[in-house]
Amino acid sequence: MSEKTVSNIIMRILIDSTEDILGKNGLAALLKYCGLSDFIDNRPDFSLVKNYTDDDLNRITSNFYDFIGPGAKAIFRMVGKSTVKRVIDSGALAPVMNLKGEEKFIGAMQMYALATGKGEMKRVGNVMVYDNPACAGCAHVKSEVPVCSIINGIMDRLLAWSEVEGMRSIETKCKAMGDDRCCYEVVAADT
Ligand SMILES: [Zn+2]
Repeated sequence: MSEKTVSNIIMRILIDSTEDILGKNGLAALLKYCGLSDFIDNRPDFSLVKNYTDDDLNRITSNFYDFIGPGAKAIFRMVGKSTVKRVIDSGALAPVMNLKGEEKFIGAMQMYALATGKGEMKRVGNVMVYDNPACAGCAHVKSEVPVCSIINGIMDRLLAWSEVEGMRSIETKCKAMGDDRCCYEVVAADT
């Protein structure tokens, strides 16, 4: 039996943010497809109690591509942005509110890494990097291009929130492409 490492609030925000983009019926269809129909009427609460395994979480993310088909990447990015909006509204980012610019962005991403127990946000030289060897969101997905665009949505929305202008995130490595990790860099928006 795998260990319960995922808190209720992480599952809840992922489910609610997916509903923001797919609508109520779209969400219900996706949850059925993933074998998670129980969540349709019984959503997890917003507590930090860890009731779920990585498998539960990844069942949603790794089925997303099969379920949506072409266009999944763009939609997944929108789910990421919606996730951040919900997290900001919840007040969870208060500890980094008073930082500015890149420090605020890095602080928020470090909180994300802590809350999910995945990855590390750091500077490599001048470049801001989110390195995620533990990404299992793309488990069972094979692709020629990176697919974990939910993180791009999260990073891009947090860059905007931190008022870091003219920058965006790109996924430079993805397990779906056969890499050993998923990895993101913040680059100039016109790159
Ligand atoms: Zn990936």
